[in-house]
Amino acid sequence: MALPIDERNDQDGPPLFDALVPLVRPELPAGIAPSCSDAFSQILASGQLTNGEHVRRLEELAAEHLGVRECVAVSSCTAGLLLVLRCLDLEGEVILPSFTFFATGHAALWNGLEPVLVDCERDTFNIDPQQVREAISGRTAAIIAVHVYGNPAAAAELEAIAAEHGLRLVFDAAHGLGASVEGGPLGGLGDAEVFSLSPTKMVVAGEGGLVTTNDVALAARLRLARNYGDGGTYDCEVLGLNARMTEFQAVLGAAGLPDVEQRSADRERNVEAYVSVLGEQPGVAFQRVRPGHSSSRKDLGILLDEEEFGVSRDFVCAALERDNVQTRRYFDPPLHRQRLYRDCRRVGDLRNTEWISARVLNPPVYTRLGEQRAGQIAERILSIRDGVRAGGYPSWWTAPMPAGPPGR
Ligand SMILES: *Cc1c(COP(=O)(O)O)cnc(C)c1O
Repeated sequence: MALPIDERNDQDGPPLFDALVPLVRPELPAGIAPSCSDAFSQILASGQLTNGEHVRRLEELAAEHLGVRECVAVSSCTAGLLLVLRCLDLEGEVILPSFTFFATGHAALWNGLEPVLVDCERDTFNIDPQQVREAISGRTAAIIAVHVYGNPAAAAELEAIAAEHGLRLVFDAAHGLGASVEGGPLGGLGDAEVFSLSPTKMVVAGEGGLVTTNDVALAARLRLARNYGDGGTYDCEVLGLNARMTEFQAVLGAAGLPDVEQRSADRERNVEAYVSVLGEQPGVAFQRVRPGHSSSRKDLGILLDEEEFGVSRDFVCAALERDNVQTRRYFDPPLHRQRLYRDCRRVGDLRNTEWISARVLNPPVYTRLGEQRAGQIAERILSIRDGVRAGGYPSWWTAPMPAGPPGR
């Protein structure tokens, strides 16, 4: 029921923040510059710029931190996922959630595998094990699960399904550093887990990825695969890539890893500030984290149901942008609505994926945001709603923003 133009709610107050509050700020430990500069100078002097002692040190540090036998550092999480699938020698179909970042699916496509898209759980946003069961065919080779926003997926159920059907199980753990299951970190689940160290993730190396596994043979193959597949014979044993990590990246990654749980805890307080303002509001829902699990809080997803909340999610995003608050809508559109994945086999109607992607809004939740600003943004979401309820949509709001967030 649009109001006539001249009765609309057009009084624009000052923006909530004078300077942009970005969606993310790279999670680099405070005060690392001097020690990193020293290490960078040493690297330059040594002449060993890539895949040297700093990379090995990062791998050891990460394996120990995550309580897993092997860690193989690579140039990105995407490259890590791609090489894990390659090194497992898969053929046929790979079951994965439609509600994910497209890099999850790209890893399958690059290997000539066929993604089969399944639904997620309405509450946790993670791949639904029941839907995985229904998706299994005679051609299924593997399952890729994603710890969405850093919320651990239902690993025990997925491991049972994989064991029962002789399938490989890989976790896209791009968001997973800082998360935990029964008090312990992620890293040892399935055949392998792959973490991202890119700028929007929990530990930042500039770019980079970590593959963790308890499978020593798989780790050895990955070490070849990240170096074109060459084990030193100049006769490649596996079709690899150049997916090596540089020494500079390893220095940054190692600096950020030890206190990643602390950063997740700081983010959790920011999340609580949002929840304490919005948690009881009609038409607002949050991702559920299972008892015994803790999320890294790489992102916070707030679901705004237009009908019950009274205002469209896209309008709230646009209004927050005018308040200098940057938001995203992960993952809208989900894979099955993207051109590369439109023709993939799907199971069921993906109704939870549709539900969440049409309603989700990701506000800033990064460590240094702080509870106070998180609370202010949450209050602002309510006053944006109340403004529209009282006076309708303002005239600057002409059309929904184009679907699909830029970036990741
Ligand atoms: C960021 C991301 C990736 C890709 O990580 P890169 O290190 O940028 O290659 C993969 N999966 C998910 C879910 C992501 O968010």
